[in-house]
Amino acid sequence: MTGTRILMPVFILMGSAAEVTKLKLNNGREMPAIALGTYLGFDQNGIVQSENKKLRDVVLHAIDVGYRHFDTAAIYGTEEEIGEAVRMKIEEGVVKREDIFITTKLWNTEHRREQVVKALEKTVEKMRLDYIDLYLMHWPMALNEDYTHSDVDYMETWQGLEDVQKQGLAKSIGLSNFNEKQIKRVIKEGSVMPAALQIEVHPQIIQRELVQYAQSEGLVVMAYSPFGSLVSRHGMQFSGPKIDDPVLSAIGEKYGKTTPQVVLRWLVDRNIVPVPKTVNYSRLKENIDIFDFKLNKEEIEEINKFNTHTRYTFPSFWQEHRHYPFEKIDNPIADPFIAKN
Ligand code: NDP
Repeated sequence: MTGTRILMPVFILMGSAAEVTKLKLNNGREMPAIALGTYLGFDQNGIVQSENKKLRDVVLHAIDVGYRHFDTAAIYGTEEEIGEAVRMKIEEGVVKREDIFITTKLWNTEHRREQVVKALEKTVEKMRLDYIDLYLMHWPMALNEDYTHSDVDYMETWQGLEDVQKQGLAKSIGLSNFNEKQIKRVIKEGSVMPAALQIEVHPQIIQRELVQYAQSEGLVVMAYSPFGSLVSRHGMQFSGPKIDDPVLSAIGEKYGKTTPQVVLRWLVDRNIVPVPKTVNYSRLKENIDIFDFKLNKEEIEEINKFNTHTRYTFPSFWQEHRHYPFEKIDNPIADPFIAKN
């Protein structure tokens, strides 16, 4: 099974900034070329939740400045507020449902085929949006309710995703955190071609081979944690290029852009959909203002040189799972999900 990937210009109003492009999915639908991330992080109490509808207000503002694509997941706890903001903007007449693209993800404890439809029904009910644009399998590993490893194979889960697409609950289906071998198996054994792959991509993990492979099969690649070491994330600092990095700053100066904008554009120029998260109104505007310039090949290669294949998301506590997708490490960390329960 193969598909096509075409970069299409489209028309989204966003004040003074340039139009956001769209990527064509292999089933003919279109995805806006940037998505707002809505994972609010993890602390000693578990996944951080939005308070006083803060995230809803961020999404309202995001729609005003031109975002049309929102990335969430059942496990983030943000589906409800995103749905509320989108419905408010539809009621205001600012957008129509079909202008908005919602990506969400199935959590690991719902991998049995019959659980998938129920899980997505729950999401759709929470969002009150009738359907989801893209439903991703968050991870290839299935877990039991108590977070012990489950034997459910991701091909069974994929059948569940095919079911939700057939029922129209999700317009497109795809994968997240799958490695090449696992994607190959889904393509070979599944009856629906995945439309998208969401993985970690930033200057320190450029994912050249995996991106090339997925794009050659017609999957649209989405990049999570797109800023890499440039920013502190959920209170953590990482080694690697920072916001004042001289190479990135020089490129930014040439185009009158900030280094976060340069990094997002580096992804767009590789036909990858960045998923930057911010809850800050001026950064919302900054991050989407990347559609009026383009990097040349040398600049893309210059940024590629930061690659050290460093991941910030590697749940080593699951590394003994038979479907763990990443490299194993010597000292895996304790499972925060189990520690919490
Ligand atoms: P990001 O690379 O988006 O970094 C987010 C951090 O950058 C926040 O601290 C934010 O702070 C800050 N920031 C945002 N814009 C700017 C800017 N212009 N200048 C300076 N700082 C900035 O990483 P995430 O790890 O949050 O990933 C993004 C999204 O990807 C998630 O929200 C989620 O939707 C998705 N994701 C998916 C995963 C998966 O397994 N499929 C795993 C991890 C993430 P502030 O909010 O204060 O602006």
